[in-house]
Amino acid sequence: MNNISFWEKESFLGPYDFVILGGGIVGLSTALHLKKQQPEASVLVLERGTFPSGASTKNAGFACFGSPTELLDDLTKMSTEQVYGLVQKRYRGLQLLQETLGPEAIGLEPQGGYEVFRIGQENHFLNTVQSLPEFNTALREILPFSPVFREVSVEDYGFGMQGLCGIIRIEGEAQIHTGKMMKALWQKVLKAGVMILSGVCVTGFHEEGQQVSIQTLDHTNILGRKLCITMNGFTQSLIPELPVKPGRAQVLITKPIESLKLRGSFHYDAGYYYFRNVGNRILLGGGRNLDFAGEETMEMGNTPKIMDSLHLLLQEMILPGVLFEEDIRWSGIMGVGPEKNYILERISPNVCVGVRMGGMGVALGSLVGLELSELALISGN
Ligand SMILES: Cc1cc2nc3c(=O)[nH]c(=O)nc-3n(C[C@H](O)[C@H](O)[C@H](O)COP(=O)(O)OP(=O)(O)OC[C@H]3O[C@@H](n4cnc5c(N)ncnc54)[C@H](O)[C@@H]3O)c2cc1C
Repeated sequence: MNNISFWEKESFLGPYDFVILGGGIVGLSTALHLKKQQPEASVLVLERGTFPSGASTKNAGFACFGSPTELLDDLTKMSTEQVYGLVQKRYRGLQLLQETLGPEAIGLEPQGGYEVFRIGQENHFLNTVQSLPEFNTALREILPFSPVFREVSVEDYGFGMQGLCGIIRIEGEAQIHTGKMMKALWQKVLKAGVMILSGVCVTGFHEEGQQVSIQTLDHTNILGRKLCITMNGFTQSLIPELPVKPGRAQVLITKPIESLKLRGSFHYDAGYYYFRNVGNRILLGGGRNLDFAGEETMEMGNTPKIMDSLHLLLQEMILPGVLFEEDIRWSGIMGVGPEKNYILERISPNVCVGVRMGGMGVALGSLVGLELSELALISGN
């Protein structure tokens, strides 16, 4: 141990009733629900960054539940029940997020969403449009608005974009301010009496009887009775055998554009590209499909191949003829895997995990936090 004083041992090292690894949307939501369900319990969140530094503060802020081509693709890999079940969970997660923090605190803008198709993708567009009645019928059972998907005209909904052959409007999709949302969640968790220690990198853990001992990079040992792991794309650094891999996603935001018409969130190329307005800026991300192997990394960074593809998309399709400047570029690490569904399981009597949110953790995160807290509250012995 690292020159730990009696006072530090008494007040900081536990044993806590619950220790949560990772202060993203899932970790913080788990902490909040644990405190709600057991107000007397001591709950500690350990976060590696100065503030949450995984995907939860790096994402695009789409409050979405699945675009038509994404659902079509999912149906080739999953059963109908699984696909619609996941849509329902994303929607419930978004409702829970709003109920927890309120629409203002998360900067909610219910502007709707769109899936766009480019000239050359006419067949893909027609096939997708043909599947809309079936989707709308199924979604009527689980979403409170109908029809969810409808074809709209490029003239009316093109927002000045160029080279489109078709657009599908997605009702009920909204945009949030990711930074405001995470700050509000962090503050709410603190107010609930949860202890958060940031700048703490966890390097390992092991069970010692009824307790779990957690090791940090500065050789401190912290004790917890129950451990919840919510490190998502970074999980393999502690549990290599779990089927969740890192998937980096690169993003840019432009400087403000005076004449910007575009409003709402947009999916393109089976969801591999996504863009939206943030005020009168464009936030654009994607291109992971250009280099899946290279993007399977926990290292933050941007690559010329992917950033060039984002710039080209801006110039040719999203902002044709508009002078724009990139303002900031960044990346975030998602947790991805062979299946779309998230992993929620107990891996040993006192250790539970809630990871692999894919590209949908804004939507799923609050619900997974609730489910993980319920799992952790059940005795694992
Ligand atoms: C660029 C991008 C765009 C996205 N866009 C959207 C979107 O529009 N809509 C949507 O629904 N989803 C989107 N997502 C996905 C969504 O952001 C994630 O699914 C979600 O944030 C995952 O939350 P989490 O809490 O599981 O993980 P994270 O937010 O990644 O949290 C894990 C935390 O663990 C911490 N950590 C890691 N290692 C350690 C360690 N050793 N010790 C202690 N702490 C550690 C990290 O710092 C991090 O804060 C996007 C993701 C990215 C990257």
